[in-house]
Amino acid sequence: MKRVLFTPGPTEVPAEVLQAMSKPLIHHRTDEYRQYFLETTRLMQEHLGTQEPALTLSCSGSGAMEAAVVNLLSAGDEAIVVEGGKFGDRWRAICQAYGVRAHTVSVEWGRVATVEEAESALAAHPGAKVLFLTHSETSTGALFPVHDMARAARARGVVTVVDAITSFGVYDLHFDRSDLDVVVWGSQKGMMIPPGLGFVCLGPRAWELVKEAKLPRFYWNLAQARTSLEAGDTPFTPAITLVLAARAAMLLLQKEGREQVFARHQRNADATRAAVRALGLPLFAEVPSNTLTAVAVPPGVDSSGVLKGMESQYGVKIAGGQDRLKGKIFRLGHIGYYDEGDILRLVGAFEAALHDHGGRVEPGAAVRAAQQSYRSLQAPAAARVR
Ligand SMILES: *Cc1c(COP(=O)(O)O)cnc(C)c1O
Repeated sequence: MKRVLFTPGPTEVPAEVLQAMSKPLIHHRTDEYRQYFLETTRLMQEHLGTQEPALTLSCSGSGAMEAAVVNLLSAGDEAIVVEGGKFGDRWRAICQAYGVRAHTVSVEWGRVATVEEAESALAAHPGAKVLFLTHSETSTGALFPVHDMARAARARGVVTVVDAITSFGVYDLHFDRSDLDVVVWGSQKGMMIPPGLGFVCLGPRAWELVKEAKLPRFYWNLAQARTSLEAGDTPFTPAITLVLAARAAMLLLQKEGREQVFARHQRNADATRAAVRALGLPLFAEVPSNTLTAVAVPPGVDSSGVLKGMESQYGVKIAGGQDRLKGKIFRLGHIGYYDEGDILRLVGAFEAALHDHGGRVEPGAAVRAAQQSYRSLQAPAAARVR
């Protein structure tokens, strides 16, 4: 059985990346490695729209989140966390683990917080130093207005830290033109490489906070990582193979072009949503992210049967809900290395498995709607509805 991952992490890995990982190992204290590492860093910075150093850490995305917390704050500091899902809540959990007082703005899972809600939290907690946000909340499929929230925070001198783990490679974060101060991302999502690398990029206001922050840190010392990077180095042994994979992936994204990468994600998301709507199913997220499409499990449908059926019969692996959403939603991932043919396979398997496991759907409707969604983009410009 040919198997394809349609999960919002880990995601499909292109052949070029697998090839880069299969070469004999090279040593990291060599000019060859340093050149590859600096090139990868530069390509990531270009993608992010920044001149600031993008730091590479050997960990999954959550390690990079923890690195951001321990480098910016001291025990007893106040912070604001805006959350509406499992990953937003992770900022709160990390803060609490380190004795940072986290004031939370919580919205129901699937909803997004508004800029006004973030603003009133900023007004209510004038002592807060940092605003922690999640751009694309992967547990619910919702997209938060982080750029606008960051503008409100900067107006009050508060530093904004964004979990962009499933928005890097999907959305233009335009870091240097924005009010974002820190972004964090990981390897196994839009970067299309296996899990194991975390990344963090800090702007000048964030580096100012680093100077006064006193939380304990050793492995996650970002000032040290920045100094090492200037020489093409890392303070500790890097995950060499994954860095070479990251280079191959960033070269692919560069070749395709930033705007084209973002536009492809938009097309794939549009087609997937059109397919889901054609099945008569509502989207779960109030504002759906182009990373994944979350769909409420319809009444009478055996959700684990659908997940297993898609995998065993079609080789298509999607995700179910996590924590309180277990058994309640399906999550169809389209972040990373996917094209039109992949999406037709995804929605075709989804509708067939739904039909097989109690769904009252008309087989073929989803594939037809997805095809129409792509075709409407190929129509002559005058006929396009925008
Ligand atoms: C995947 C993910 C994380 C966690 O990353 P790990 O790599 O599992 O540590 C955090 N935030 C978001 C939004 C994610 O999608």
